[in-house]
Amino acid sequence: MTEPADAAAEAAGAAEAAEAAAAAARQAEARWAFETRAIHAGQAPDPTTGAVVTPIYQTSTFAQDGVGRHRGYEYSRSANPTRTALEACLADLEGAAHGFAFASGLAAEDAVLRLLVPGDHALLSVDAYGGTSRLARRVHEPAGIAVGSADLSDLDAVRAAWRPETRLVWVETPTNPRLSIVDIAAVAQLAHEREALCVVDNTFATPYLQQPLALGADIVVHSTTKYLGGHSDVVGGFAATARPDLAERLRFLQNAVGAVPGPFDCFLVLRGVKTLAVRMDRHSANAEQVAGALRGHPAVERVLWPGFADHPGHDVARRQMRGFGGMVSFTLLGGEPAAVTVAESTRLFTLAESLGAVESLIEHPGRMTHASVADTESAVDPALLRLSIGLESADDLVLDLIRALDELG
Ligand SMILES: *Cc1c(COP(=O)(O)O)cnc(C)c1O
Repeated sequence: MTEPADAAAEAAGAAEAAEAAAAAARQAEARWAFETRAIHAGQAPDPTTGAVVTPIYQTSTFAQDGVGRHRGYEYSRSANPTRTALEACLADLEGAAHGFAFASGLAAEDAVLRLLVPGDHALLSVDAYGGTSRLARRVHEPAGIAVGSADLSDLDAVRAAWRPETRLVWVETPTNPRLSIVDIAAVAQLAHEREALCVVDNTFATPYLQQPLALGADIVVHSTTKYLGGHSDVVGGFAATARPDLAERLRFLQNAVGAVPGPFDCFLVLRGVKTLAVRMDRHSANAEQVAGALRGHPAVERVLWPGFADHPGHDVARRQMRGFGGMVSFTLLGGEPAAVTVAESTRLFTLAESLGAVESLIEHPGRMTHASVADTESAVDPALLRLSIGLESADDLVLDLIRALDELG
């Protein structure tokens, strides 16, 4: 028979062993590869039912066990279990300790820009996503935030545009639609020497191809509408950081402003992310084949794709990316009329805005996604077309484009 004292010691020993086992499991988890974490991080089988897939907790509120005594969830604007799973998964994939899901990419960006206070200056890329530029200039600038822009792929241009009150630099790489490459580590170092935050919009690359926080960025943001969702069926956003002080502010803003995604939207992104690694590998391989085929066509002036050895950002892209991604832009010798004709005559490539899904899309940035910057320094070459290369057969995609180009005559 065990004496009471021994029982207590035994229980303490068991607790210690359990803790050691949990720590070992956590360590093993930290070593799991990206592909594995995309499927399992934050998504253990449901504790009450064993459901293998994270349920859609379609509820606005949660029963409390007593006044002020709840099981971690009170009200779905503040937290919802489906959203928690998504936040844990994406934070894990970005190597972040803290992640926050939003109703759209722009809602996530708005939360990040709200970290600034009147008098602060934010430095954007000259070819920042149009919605980012509009949000900064037409929502945050009237509220007292000064907004500037520079070609962030040129560090001298960044230094020249820097002001004493610059508190944030907003990086996109590859950029949209020119697919320039920004050296994240170099810009982050420059920002930190000047006590500013470096934010990276990682929508085009995804955490599979590029890890901004590991390169020194303070915050990473996403439009999960694109590659993370991956199927053109959801609009969503995400922000992550390793810094507890920034996380505390973002958590406050997420709840106080309330631009949160619903449980079904979170479920769709979670489902998309499970296949992110295989999709990005195929997007990249298909894009390589399409870029190569376009380059050889007599109607094409220039193909912008960071995988080409003569792309100005190629060396940096090789250093900071695992692959070159699924976006390809190109200009036509026939100028805007030729570009518009090609955009309207492909059969497989759908003429549409957005990017990052299984189906291939074509668009004319000058008159579509970037029409709002038509008369500014960020104006896009009207002869340029942007392709989001999907997961169809690359041979079929090439056939479709070459036929459209040949028809130009
Ligand atoms: C689409 C996009 C956004 C905006 O995201 P929404 O989900 O449309 O609000 C921001 N940045 C980039 C690079 C994007 O492509």
